[in-house]
Amino acid sequence: MTVPAEHPLQTPPRAPSPLYGFGTLAVHAGAPHDPTTGAVIEPISLSTTFAQHGVGKPVGAYEYSRSANPNRDNFEQAVAALEHAKHALAFASGSAATATILQSLASGSHVISVSDVYGGTHRYFTQVAKAHGVKVTFTPQIEVDIAEHITDSTKLVWIESPSNPTLRLVDIRAVATAAHARGVLVVVDNTFLSPYIQNPLDHGADIVVHSVTKYINGHSDVVMGLAAFNSEDLKARLSFLQNAGGAVPSAFDSWLAHRGVKTLHLRVRQSSNNALAVAKALETSPYVVAVNYPGLDSHPHRHIAIKQHREGMGGGMLSFRIKGGRIAAERFCQLTKIYTLAESLGGIESLVELPSGMTHAGIPKDQREAVGVFDDLVRISSGIEEAEDLVRDVEQALARAVSEISSNGVNGYSGN
Ligand SMILES: *Cc1c(COP(=O)(O)O)cnc(C)c1O
Repeated sequence: MTVPAEHPLQTPPRAPSPLYGFGTLAVHAGAPHDPTTGAVIEPISLSTTFAQHGVGKPVGAYEYSRSANPNRDNFEQAVAALEHAKHALAFASGSAATATILQSLASGSHVISVSDVYGGTHRYFTQVAKAHGVKVTFTPQIEVDIAEHITDSTKLVWIESPSNPTLRLVDIRAVATAAHARGVLVVVDNTFLSPYIQNPLDHGADIVVHSVTKYINGHSDVVMGLAAFNSEDLKARLSFLQNAGGAVPSAFDSWLAHRGVKTLHLRVRQSSNNALAVAKALETSPYVVAVNYPGLDSHPHRHIAIKQHREGMGGGMLSFRIKGGRIAAERFCQLTKIYTLAESLGGIESLVELPSGMTHAGIPKDQREAVGVFDDLVRISSGIEEAEDLVRDVEQALARAVSEISSNGVNGYSGN
């Protein structure tokens, strides 16, 4: 049987096309058959250098692997298609993507950021960008006061939605409208939702960044980052810095992350369903003080999730406050049987952690508590296991953690 040349499964290159849905693009965008062998899965191109016919006349499209290589190109094309972007650039980590965007700003530039950004982003803003003459203002309610903070030197607004670990949402369109009125670009760190649930460029953002380490790779075995955007000017500036700074991912990691992205839609949907089941169980548990999950109707920003997220999905991340304080929270993290106590998120396996003692331990207690990161706050990354197993695991760990505390009479917990 001959397949017509325009058949989506036949024609290389499989350019991003609005004709195809997310899953089709995840599998096929940036995934041409190998033109010489017909291999359906691209080979890993480990060569650092590429032969030239004559001086300055490379045989193919490549010269030197830091500047560009086939595996990185293919991966970048795949994620660009999923983020509805013209261009994507991959970096050695999410932090390197962030650093490169900040490096593109001239000395004297001003940035406005949401207060509860990723810890490493906060560290770069306060300890590295400052040394290069870039000043960052943090605000806890950016939709409300962005206009007050914009000055003539403001070049960038930095948003994370949902925030980590309290899962507050930001209305991207509202912020972009205010920023664009003053010629300011908007960056959204979309790591927590992945392009399957949220496409920030569709809501007016100029750049979307990812820690590929999390959902996009999804198997907890690659550290990588990415920035995606539409503007040709950004493409010129950021690809120059990608090459000049050289914080690029290896061909092997690019290949692995590309393999990961092909199942992104299946993994993220399952993670989100699992998180919702666990969030509902936590909400009715007598051992829980409060649950933060944007997929619950009780979430204060549920209306933003409905507008901004695919099918109003809440994503795979949630956090909750356990009764019994820090001690109960620590015991909970040790008593789960399926969840592993570890930092990071977005993998196929479920993880649990205590932000106040792990990911957010570097933030002074008063600042931490002002944004809701209390000692009894537990953060969960839902993997793709079975929802019933995860719910049962959370329920048994809650019951044991809280009853141990109340029977020992520790921490003033009264047993209710
Ligand atoms: C992990 C993470 C980063 C940093 O990414 P790395 O790949 O670890 O450098 C940035 N933003 C968010 C939201 C993250 O979760």
